[in-house]
Amino acid sequence: MQIHTYDTVIVGAGGAGMRAAIEATQRSRTAVLTKLYPTRSHTGAAQGGMAAALANVEDDNWEWHTFDTVKGGDYLVDQDAAEILAKEAIDSVLDLERMGLPFNRTPDGLIDQRRFGGHSRNHGEAPVRRSCYAADRTGHMILQTLYQNCVKEGVEFFNEFYVLDLLLTTVDGVRRTAGVVAYELATGELHVFRAKAVVFASGGNGKFYKVTSNAHTLTGDGQAAAFRRGLPLEDMEFFQFHPTGIWKMGILLTEGARGEGGILRNKDGERFMEKYAPVMKDLASRDVVSRSIYTEIREGRGCGPDGDHVHLDLTHLPPEQLDAKLPDITEFARTYLGIEPYTDPIPIQPTAHYAMGGIPTNVRGEVLSTNTDVVPGLYAAGEVACVSVHGANRLGTNSLLDINVFGRRAGIAAAEYAADADLVELPEDPARFVADEVTRMRGATGNERVTVIRRALQETMDRNAMVFRTEQTLKEALEDITALRKRYRNVSVQDKGRRFNTDLLEALELGNLLDLAEVLVVSALARKESRGGHYREDHPHRDDVNFMRHTMAYREVDSQGNETIRLDYKPVVQTRYQPQERTY
Ligand SMILES: Cc1cc2nc3c(=O)[nH]c(=O)nc-3n(C[C@H](O)[C@H](O)[C@H](O)COP(=O)(O)OP(=O)(O)OC[C@H]3O[C@@H](n4cnc5c(N)ncnc54)[C@H](O)[C@@H]3O)c2cc1C
Repeated sequence: MQIHTYDTVIVGAGGAGMRAAIEATQRSRTAVLTKLYPTRSHTGAAQGGMAAALANVEDDNWEWHTFDTVKGGDYLVDQDAAEILAKEAIDSVLDLERMGLPFNRTPDGLIDQRRFGGHSRNHGEAPVRRSCYAADRTGHMILQTLYQNCVKEGVEFFNEFYVLDLLLTTVDGVRRTAGVVAYELATGELHVFRAKAVVFASGGNGKFYKVTSNAHTLTGDGQAAAFRRGLPLEDMEFFQFHPTGIWKMGILLTEGARGEGGILRNKDGERFMEKYAPVMKDLASRDVVSRSIYTEIREGRGCGPDGDHVHLDLTHLPPEQLDAKLPDITEFARTYLGIEPYTDPIPIQPTAHYAMGGIPTNVRGEVLSTNTDVVPGLYAAGEVACVSVHGANRLGTNSLLDINVFGRRAGIAAAEYAADADLVELPEDPARFVADEVTRMRGATGNERVTVIRRALQETMDRNAMVFRTEQTLKEALEDITALRKRYRNVSVQDKGRRFNTDLLEALELGNLLDLAEVLVVSALARKESRGGHYREDHPHRDDVNFMRHTMAYREVDSQGNETIRLDYKPVVQTRYQPQERTY
């Protein structure tokens, strides 16, 4: 085992991690640990754009953007955080431009902007062009730009290092951050990184669904590590289902397609969103559009022999526009479906896309250990975190924004903390937990297989905890997850070696997914209302009296070693906007 010492350690080299690193490295000795090569992070798959009220092409301002974000999140958003997001968006885009990001341009040479769901002029009057974009490769450009700037700043990367544990040491009755434990993929060696400050920027956890836009690696390792160490997870029941995944595969077709004028149609060719969202139509918020699609399907207006999908129609848009603005997703339709989007509509269905919940933080990125206390030295930003700027439903283009605004803030706060703080003693035998897990997994002879359990988990989550939920379906999901967790104890890996043992890591990742799926379902069972991405058919209305509050889930272990999930709640920060009925 090797021990390394840094001021600031950042876990994750996606947009949030690298944006944090650019700040932290200028102020403190910083290392970035990442299980993937940095430019393979999921941020690179983001397509449609990044929101900022630049008003380059239409009248706009940050207050409208704040309102849309709060309303989009079905009023579960912390409004102080949303205001920061919308205000700092403008500099955040300009920072990226100065770093070299090649945004699409207007004929006058300004950064071009396009429409996206839920973004509106003057509190819902009409759609507004707020998304800054680089064709349908915005995330790719952000990731490359940030990586190049990290290299320029001399950020130290540890690539293919899997962080498997968070080290906290109790000092004078307060848990403080001591570092993390990582597994080096190439050698199988364990490394302890001591640090004054740790920033989790390890991304989302959508891989517990089968039909998902998420990469194979989005397994919630950061959320699971924090949870295992007794820290809460906030609002995990809120998961976003993006309306337009490729039918059966879930691969994303950006909302930018509808921003450019694409239309959703049912089997009769009807533009059905006009019924559900008379003003914003196809550009209503994602939760609304996904529910509408499934309503069409359930009522027998779905397309195809099984009536199990609807169409995204781009055929009325000029091919030149598709080529210039949506080159990748039109190519996806050709490659994966053999469909020519110039002339034929594309079969789509909703796809599991984004975790609104995560590790709770304040607006400085400091991680909360209770509703009010922070863990000194611990920070989180990006999809792993819950600030909460997305509330019950995130607006499209607000995540690329979130990772830049709150990645930057967390990087600054962590490095400033590290400048004044002392290193905390490591806990005794710091790598023990990880060493035991790895040894157990390598030596296991049980007859359960990772792929089989993962598939069963994904199937129950798709069936029971997706767009529509009821007490009964959620209970079924919970029973299945409990049974799968038992079976997981008998899982064994075929590769017993040390070098590049991805088999072993996938087994550990599956453990994280099982833990997080359970948190999602337990939180969802307790929320007997419908809000944003969480729709309970048995409680179809929003209930502000009982549920205008954030869920805080804690893992508790009794003296016999039995684990339970305890739920607590945290008030929502409301500043400017009173909850209203949400229509689009
Ligand atoms: C297909 C797709 C399209 C999208 N399009 C848009 C869009 O147009 N606009 C928008 O706003 N949002 C979009 N999103 C959402 C947005 O891209 C993500 O929420 C955001 O990029 C997440 O960034 P991140 O930095 O938090 O995490 P990621 O980019 O996922 O990076 C996570 C990092 O953590 C590392 N990591 C994870 N676990 C470990 C571990 N155990 N040890 C060490 N390192 C670890 C990984 O190696 C990686 O470097 C899209 C998402 C998807 C999936």
